[in-house]
Amino acid sequence: MVYTIRPKRSYSDTRGEGARHVVATMVQFDERKDKQSLFPSVKRRLSRKVPISPEFTAMTTGHGKLRAYLHRFRIIESPICPCGQQEQTANHAIFDCNIVTRQRNDMIRKIQEAGGKWPTTCEALASNYLQIFSTFVRGIDFTIL
Ligand SMILES: [Zn+2]
Repeated sequence: MVYTIRPKRSYSDTRGEGARHVVATMVQFDERKDKQSLFPSVKRRLSRKVPISPEFTAMTTGHGKLRAYLHRFRIIESPICPCGQQEQTANHAIFDCNIVTRQRNDMIRKIQEAGGKWPTTCEALASNYLQIFSTFVRGIDFTIL
């Protein structure tokens, strides 16, 4: 994956664009606060034997890897997911993104086979369905996400 790093001064070149950028960042920050509470006890859960990859961390905390996060730190220009639907947050990848539909459908089937319902909560994913969720994350090709 290739990221384009924009020099900071380019944001002040066009005042309108810069203003929009600031607004977008603030909105994103508020969403991130919500995201962090989606997996409130994930650290405790992770003491169980689940492989913790950078991808898994990104999907449970919203930090790293995902475009909304990379964009917030101006590592990439756009927070929009390659699917074109919306910003690529952990929530988007887990519940909405059509790039990972096959992986999500596998996860949904396994959760339903275990007697669960879909959609479920992130809390349930991190507790009741941690192995299933971990397999879902491992099945995602982050080089195209
Ligand atoms: Zn997407």
